[in-house]
Amino acid sequence: MDLVLLGAPGAGKGTQGALLAETLGTPKIATGDMLRDAVRQGTPLGVQAKAVMDAGKLVSDDIVLGLVRERLSRPDAEGGAIFDGYPRNVAQARALDGLLEDLGRGIDAVVYLEVDDDAIVRRMSGRRTDPETGVVYHVDHNPPPADVAGRVVQRDDDREETVRHRLEVYRENTAPLVEHYRGAGVPVHTLDGSRAIDAVQADVLGVLGR
Ligand code: AMP
Repeated sequence: MDLVLLGAPGAGKGTQGALLAETLGTPKIATGDMLRDAVRQGTPLGVQAKAVMDAGKLVSDDIVLGLVRERLSRPDAEGGAIFDGYPRNVAQARALDGLLEDLGRGIDAVVYLEVDDDAIVRRMSGRRTDPETGVVYHVDHNPPPADVAGRVVQRDDDREETVRHRLEVYRENTAPLVEHYRGAGVPVHTLDGSRAIDAVQADVLGVLGR
């Protein structure tokens, strides 16, 4: 199954995507994670992407398409993928449609996690990542275990001002994807993403019939 997780930054796509990947045995393809890896490793692509990411803007469509194409060609993605943070605009959605069509596949469903802006800003300010595993925590709602708490870090782009800018970029570029997929006849399941992780997960599995 090929599934797109849509929603503003901080809506819970990464968390739900990871749970879903485990449940369905389908890999999660998260372009943000892939770009952060490239930044950490200091590859030429990472060096190029870092300033754009820190400013809360979108990295070029060509760069992310290259990453996604390579990732989709690996054997574990033969049966489908969960797309998190990709596509981010209509051009990327069309490119993904083309990639999947070449594989005889298409997006089967979209899960759209809705969370209002103020809740997003509150969430992001408490968000912390374990740099060793990439696991994401929240200081209040999902605190890291004691042996991890000492090494968690805040993402450079999770500062309030950058978050507000990322929300604008989202509204302008990414929100229209709901209509892109509806127009293409892909089922779009809209869920209230502001609730607890378990409650959202139960709904996600429910709408997917799992
Ligand atoms: P995320 O982890 O999905 O919130 O992504 C973090 C940052 O990486 C974004 O603010 C963008 O700068 C960049 N990024 C991630 N995915 C994409 C994408 N599909 N297209 C363009 N930029 C992206």
